[in-house]
Amino acid sequence: MPIATVNPATGETLKTYDALSAEDIEVKLARAAEAFAAYRTTTFFDRARLLQGAADLLEADAPDIARVMTTEMGKPVAAARAEAAKCAKTMRWYAEHAQHLLADEHPAESDVKDSGASRAHVRYRPLGPVLAVMPWNFPLWQVVRFAAPALMAGNVGLLKHASNVPQTALYLEDLFRRAGFPEGCFQTLLIGSGAVEDILRDERVVAATLTGSEPAGRSVAAIAGDEVKKTVLELGGSDPYVVMPSADVAKAAKTAVTARVQNNGQSCIAAKRFIVHEDVFEEFRDAFVAGMRALRVGDPLDEDTDVGPLASEQGRTDLEELVDDAVESGATVLCGGQRPKDFADRGWFYEPTVIADVTPEMRIHREETFGPVATLYRVADLDEAIEVANDTPFGLSSNLWTGDEDEIERFARDSGAGGVFVNGMTASHPALPFGGAKRSGYGRELSDHGIKEFCNITTVWVA
Ligand code: NDP
Repeated sequence: MPIATVNPATGETLKTYDALSAEDIEVKLARAAEAFAAYRTTTFFDRARLLQGAADLLEADAPDIARVMTTEMGKPVAAARAEAAKCAKTMRWYAEHAQHLLADEHPAESDVKDSGASRAHVRYRPLGPVLAVMPWNFPLWQVVRFAAPALMAGNVGLLKHASNVPQTALYLEDLFRRAGFPEGCFQTLLIGSGAVEDILRDERVVAATLTGSEPAGRSVAAIAGDEVKKTVLELGGSDPYVVMPSADVAKAAKTAVTARVQNNGQSCIAAKRFIVHEDVFEEFRDAFVAGMRALRVGDPLDEDTDVGPLASEQGRTDLEELVDDAVESGATVLCGGQRPKDFADRGWFYEPTVIADVTPEMRIHREETFGPVATLYRVADLDEAIEVANDTPFGLSSNLWTGDEDEIERFARDSGAGGVFVNGMTASHPALPFGGAKRSGYGRELSDHGIKEFCNITTVWVA
């Protein structure tokens, strides 16, 4: 895959970059190791000041970097600005809270005595240079939710970003440098995925985090496992969205549209499978389909656009194949199901689509639809809804719409996902852990859980 900015709204290649040479990579790794040796002893106060500075810069840059993101991967420009704002907020959150989150822990006095110590405590120390392999779908956010906690913990970062967002990748390195982080604390490596293995095996790199597809995650985890290095994986999702009769159905349908098409449908935590109780099925279906039909598909730089193009031609082909397979096997297309006529000859657009009559043998039932395509299921009760919700290899998040407390409790007990969101859509927040179960990966990002993933949890025991 070339390292290049290719505008998905037009298919035009705007900028290409050479990948780093082996010598360039060596310089960057040496710099990371050197930076860590000094940075690890800095205070939370110093790190927080730098990260607050990065947040200030990012807020000022938001309109410009938003346009870059939109040009590189096609998200509506208003959503790109919102992404930049969320990144700044998360930087501030970690700047403010990291010291408290990573404060020494003191076991009970009686346990300390029982261990034979006069005193003992647990200290969270940084690990070292961490490799972050990141995707294009939220090109700032996916990186910042790793970088903010990692830098506050005293680690340093090496970013291998997706090959189609090189300008955003270079912007991030420049942002942290301008904020005053010492040289080598955060570096972007413009490399293809083939160069990841050698870097991961380098002894100066101590751990890795990857957000992306299952094959990419499996590959990085296998190499890291071979080297006995810690990994966090945030892979795909096919989140269920269950609607029960006691729900506010109109609100559930309206939110369902946003939950499905946010980021042009290319979000791991987008709701993808809509599982609706038979008593409210028609009401939900009609409102949902009307909402999907009303979306404005168009140029993502236009402020009025709801849904832009898919990020790559391959991404659209993958989506079309899933829809075609379902239709050939008897599924019903309620709206969409094709490329929009206005954009037949340019860009990688696809109409917002709702598919009903899905059966388990269809690929769309088990695979992730990474684009604006929803599947609709009719169920008889909550037991069946949970069965369908969990009938997926993924387990990232899950949604329930209901007015019934018992149903909330049962869903929170039985959902196979890492998140349970009730009467609202799944969204990440710096204070709440984010991550999945099953094939959606392991480990957590954000909150205290996220910042502790890349720490050496050290027992200090004194006789
Ligand atoms: P990939 O998983 O291929 O790309 C994500 C990142 O991993 C990129 O930086 C990529 O680099 C890198 N990568 C890919 N293969 C390897 C490898 N073998 N070893 C090391 N690094 C690797 O995602 P795609 O862009 O191809 O999207 C395919 C599907 O993945 C989507 O349809 C969706 O299902 C899922 N996905 C999920 C995301 C999420 O948020 N969980 C985000 C993006 C995709 P490079 O760009 O150079 O190939």
